Amino acid sequence: MSHAVARQAARRIREHCQAHSRTEIAIVFHGGEPLLVGRSGLEMLTDVIREELINHDIKVSVGLQTNGVLFTPELGDVMLARDISLAVSLDGPPEVNDRYRVDKQGRPTSAILEEKLELLLSPQYSPLFRGFLCVIDLDSDPIAVLRYLSSYHHQVDFLFPHGNYERPPVGKEHDLSATPYADWLIPAFDYWFDEIRDGNIRLFASIISMLLGGQSQFEGLGLGSVDLVVVEANGEIEAVDTLKSTFPGAAHLGFDVFTDDFDTVAAHPAIRGRQVGSAGLCATCQACPIVRICGGGYLPHRYSHANQFMNPSVYCADLQALIAHIGTKVKREIFPPTLAVRNDAGRDRDVIILPG
Ligand code: SF4
Repeated sequence: MSHAVARQAARRIREHCQAHSRTEIAIVFHGGEPLLVGRSGLEMLTDVIREELINHDIKVSVGLQTNGVLFTPELGDVMLARDISLAVSLDGPPEVNDRYRVDKQGRPTSAILEEKLELLLSPQYSPLFRGFLCVIDLDSDPIAVLRYLSSYHHQVDFLFPHGNYERPPVGKEHDLSATPYADWLIPAFDYWFDEIRDGNIRLFASIISMLLGGQSQFEGLGLGSVDLVVVEANGEIEAVDTLKSTFPGAAHLGFDVFTDDFDTVAAHPAIRGRQVGSAGLCATCQACPIVRICGGGYLPHRYSHANQFMNPSVYCADLQALIAHIGTKVKREIFPPTLAVRNDAGRDRDVIILPG
């Protein structure tokens, strides 16, 4: 991103914040690989953010999402000095991560990443670190993955691989009612709930929170308003970039920071549709008893040629199974067996009092 685009984007953000009395925002440098900008790129971007936003009384949380391989003490020092946090994409222990996360020559990256993690988690740089993004790999052992990631004692986000009705996810190619992702996540949840219960696994924590009447912390769950846009390096303003997994141009809105303000962008149906709760979902999801928790799943996962995004998530069956499992487990935790009575066979059985 050039200096001119960065400055214009920051001015648009300031204009929007001032128009709506917003005093706090978050900016995430997303990839590709943001650390490719190097020290001078990070300094340029954060100089612009300070001059155009922070100096105008707008509090900005700046983060970046990286594969971690390019992290160095030099970049770490810049990030510490400029208060930039960092999350790392990591799919599990080395043997899992190396299946897909390879360098340009196809060589595994885990060995170097583990070195970088050691540096990143050293007392000097650990204040930068926010946690992991982990894409679920059905061939991996969920408990081994959870145990490995949670050993770093930071936030973990489990993500469903991108799939839709035209390109079903691995494991659901022949049967969308199959639940291989719930079958992977449920043992991971049970292990976390029973054995660890530490750290923040946001997918699980968000489901529990919503079951208890709270909010989701996760873009792909719940009916909360999604208020993010993407500014591309050339200044174009787009919808969430993961839409690119559906069809070419899916994220394209036709706006850019030089000609359009964010109010104009916010009025676009693709953005408005994510801020109207269940009204933005298909009829099946609107009638679903767990729509408040599921929210129809993540937007790109609802896509089909025929109905565009007006479908349940391609992971609907997995989401139903996972949410039902967590709901049952949490209810048992809150309302444990309270009374033991004799059943007809003369054995003790538990009476469980459930809410509602
Ligand atoms: S995706 Fe499935 S589980 Fe989720 S709200 Fe829609 S119908 Fe319900």
